[in-house]
Amino acid sequence: MPDGFTGGCLCGTVRFESAVNPQLVGHCHCLDCRKSSGTGHGTNLMIPEDAFTLSGDVKFYDRPADSGNIVSRGFCPNCGSAIYSRNSGTPGVVYPRASSLDDPNVVKPQVVVYASRALSWDPVDPALLSFPEMPPNNSEKGVGVAVNFEG
Ligand SMILES: [Zn+2]
Ligand SMILES: [Zn+2]
Repeated sequence: MPDGFTGGCLCGTVRFESAVNPQLVGHCHCLDCRKSSGTGHGTNLMIPEDAFTLSGDVKFYDRPADSGNIVSRGFCPNCGSAIYSRNSGTPGVVYPRASSLDDPNVVKPQVVVYASRALSWDPVDPALLSFPEMPPNNSEKGVGVAVNFEG
């Protein structure tokens, strides 16, 4: 994919742009991602915050993850679309939702976290590196970067 990507919410009042490609793309089958996704899992991109430009109002819902870190899930207050999340344990990083991209086909998922919670009708792709929950201490190097994907 060429460097960077664009996205936005369903109603179009929230728009964003990333100047860089994702450092990591992964599926998360945790309950919180499921509840906020509309289906069995969330697909999250990881990018540095300084490459991320946002326009429009985003409302955040804060909730602690298993680690105790606070995950702030940003959504459009008008149409409810999930846009991106932040994690108190990873300052300087944002996690746009693949569903909000203008062209979601450009993302290539690499990892699966919370695979143990996957639903029978939304199975884990056996071709991807997967972890039953979060990798221990988030330092797994199997995909070239730390899997720090709680969100
Ligand atoms: Zn909207
Ligand atoms: Zn999750």
